[in-house]
Amino acid sequence: MDCEGLTGKVIVPGDPGYERARQDYNRAISQYPAMIVYCTDSRDIANAICRAEKDGLGLRVRSGGHDYEGYSNGTGKLVIDTSLLNQVQINLQDATVKVQAGTRLLSLYEQLYEYGYTFPGGTCPTVAISGLILGGGIGLSTRYLGLTADSLLEASMINYAGEQLVANRQCNSDLFWALRGAGGGNFGVVTDYTFRLEKVDQITVIQLRWDNNKAARDRFLALWQEWLPGLDCRMSAFGGIYPAGAWLNGFFYGTTETARQLLRPFLAIPGLTLEITMYVPFIDAIKIIGAIYPKSETFQAAGRFVQRTLSRNQLDTLIHIIEQAPSERDSSIRVYSLGGAVRDVKPEETAFAYRQADYIMALMSAWKKEDEARAHRRWIMQGFCFIETITLGSYVNFPYNRTQGYLQAYFGKNLPRLQDIKAAYDPYNVFRFPQSLQPPL
Ligand SMILES: Cc1cc2nc3c(=O)[nH]c(=O)nc-3n(C[C@H](O)[C@H](O)[C@H](O)COP(=O)(O)OP(=O)(O)OC[C@H]3O[C@@H](n4cnc5c(N)ncnc54)[C@H](O)[C@@H]3O)c2cc1C
Repeated sequence: MDCEGLTGKVIVPGDPGYERARQDYNRAISQYPAMIVYCTDSRDIANAICRAEKDGLGLRVRSGGHDYEGYSNGTGKLVIDTSLLNQVQINLQDATVKVQAGTRLLSLYEQLYEYGYTFPGGTCPTVAISGLILGGGIGLSTRYLGLTADSLLEASMINYAGEQLVANRQCNSDLFWALRGAGGGNFGVVTDYTFRLEKVDQITVIQLRWDNNKAARDRFLALWQEWLPGLDCRMSAFGGIYPAGAWLNGFFYGTTETARQLLRPFLAIPGLTLEITMYVPFIDAIKIIGAIYPKSETFQAAGRFVQRTLSRNQLDTLIHIIEQAPSERDSSIRVYSLGGAVRDVKPEETAFAYRQADYIMALMSAWKKEDEARAHRRWIMQGFCFIETITLGSYVNFPYNRTQGYLQAYFGKNLPRLQDIKAAYDPYNVFRFPQSLQPPL
């Protein structure tokens, strides 16, 4: 393979590192890019964009490689990989940080916590800041501190022509709006983000599990939807049900005593097999929840926004769906709390369309052997058909390749404005993938 015009570390099929470099977090998706360019500066990125265009290869942009559908990668494509761009510059004077595109969340949390700071990030230690913040970004600080994108003050991006643009409230403000909720892979390669920091010390970390407990499983979602409205916004939680039980993980920015009072309805469900409510240094809480994630998984998943109270019938249908799941342990219906600080930002301020939603509901199913894949994918598809009927739209960071009218589903009423911004910043549709924005015809 001819690497002329390319700078940075280039890996092509046949190179010793290729097998590792082509793989992403989700091993259910196997793709064989023509080239992977590990970029170390803006020039490497500009050269890679130019080369992909010259060869008509088509581009993909990758940072942490955690996209559920592998949209940051592609067979026969040139992958611009920013994972070597991982510098973090903390500015203590104004409590901000400048983070390069490929920085992984755990490393970022650790560096910030050394100075007593944090930001509202996600829970998986190896997700990169780019995909997370560009799609909105939810986690266990969301109800207290907002979406990850809500902390963003400025981003730098290399556009289709290899030019560096700065986007903030004053400069390229339409792009700045779009990058906060619809930025993943759509407009250019973002190289760094400057965002606001929050002081943090100790918090209460929560882990509750009801294993081998179908009675708890059957009560969980009804309780969740009663509990969430009006919940103290210092608490955020992710939980769910699986065929054999249920679980709830959370952070509370306050004491264990108050957290336990807020959790009373859940603590009253009999048969807890794990009950952790501990007041710990923030970074320990991050690591306790982060330890749940494996290094990679083979799975399919899909996530939608809920903004209604589900009826008894609808809850029963969800229980029926989980009973049909292909795996006792690795198939689940998950819920991720929103509300609180997410609603403090005006809906029109960013491209994140579903700010008023109460929570995200996701289906997830993981398998070990290739011949199991079909059953898991079929279960996701059937479950999704029902979940679509009780939800508003889809979370772009939990994408699903079978979503009908996916652009409308991800971006709702913001779609026309996003298409205009796409036309202005990527008029030749250089940055495209199977579910990307397209300029209007
Ligand atoms: C195990 C796991 C746990 C997760 N937990 C959470 C969570 O707690 N909260 C949450 O909100 N989400 C979560 N997610 C979803 C996650 O936020 C998205 O998958 C996110 O897009 C991943 O970002 P990435 O950079 O790691 O992935 P990538 O696959 O590298 O990129 C994802 C998307 O962003 C684009 N992109 C990547 N880098 C750039 C760049 N530099 N410039 C422009 N576009 C770029 C890609 O082209 C692609 O479209 C989780 C995902 C997994 C697999």
